[in-house]
Amino acid sequence: LARFYSAAAPSPAQPSSDASSEPITRFADLPKLGVSDSLVRSITQGMGYENMTPIQAMTINAALAGKDVVAQAKTGTGKTLAFLTPVVQRILNRLQEENPNWRRRRPDARDVQAIIISPTRELAEQISAEAKKLCQGTGVVVQTAVGGTMKRMMLGKARREGCHLLVATPGRLYDLLSDPESGISAPRLASLVLDEADRMLEVGFSKELEQITELLPSRNEVPRQTLLYSATLPKDVVGIARQYIDPKNFEFVQTVRAD
Ligand code: ADP
Ligand code: MG
Repeated sequence: LARFYSAAAPSPAQPSSDASSEPITRFADLPKLGVSDSLVRSITQGMGYENMTPIQAMTINAALAGKDVVAQAKTGTGKTLAFLTPVVQRILNRLQEENPNWRRRRPDARDVQAIIISPTRELAEQISAEAKKLCQGTGVVVQTAVGGTMKRMMLGKARREGCHLLVATPGRLYDLLSDPESGISAPRLASLVLDEADRMLEVGFSKELEQITELLPSRNEVPRQTLLYSATLPKDVVGIARQYIDPKNFEFVQTVRAD
């Protein structure tokens, strides 16, 4: 199945502006790839990490180069920070480009910049907690939308505080995006992460995942980066990848051997 990706993959990536560039593996070197100093400080000083794990190094370099990513990696390999780093940086770039004074404006929950989809409430809450640590002091607002919590309370909070980055389970996300009254929408979505795609399908979210793409702006009109992570790559995950990933500009990253 991995062959689908190799077959579809474009010829090797163009070397970036710096031809001698080797992948960056220390967080402290990320400003060379355009990552803001405040994000790097959150990671190195706030979280206390110095070196990237393999999946972090591969994903962060590829995503900062603008590619979609399909990554196969086991639990406990540091995926959360692997996707949060490029996603938060992309949010910062977008907001800064649009309005250098964006920090003085009220963030809007009807203009969500990035969405992370996670299979369970517990995982979504863990991701949110890490995202909040990473975003501390940056002005990026993170909200969590999971099943089983009081929806009205969550929506009230999102309306008051706004939302740049939404971490959600598939059912609740579909529910919010399909309801015009929810006050949550993403007409200019810049980043999408599917975390633990195989587990989302195991838990029975394949229908929601298909429906969610239809509620998002078309990739032809709104360029979007998608990062998909999965411990295994069965056929149904490949199907989801085909639906979400840009076949002309993606990188397939593997830190475990295929089954
Ligand atoms: P996964 O999502 O792949 O299961 P997590 O993102 O939950 O993995 O990370 C697993 C653990 O590794 C967490 O406790 C996290 O804080 C820690 N961790 C993540 N990145 C690093 C790093 N670069 N150096 C040291 N520890 C890290
Ligand atoms: Mg994880």
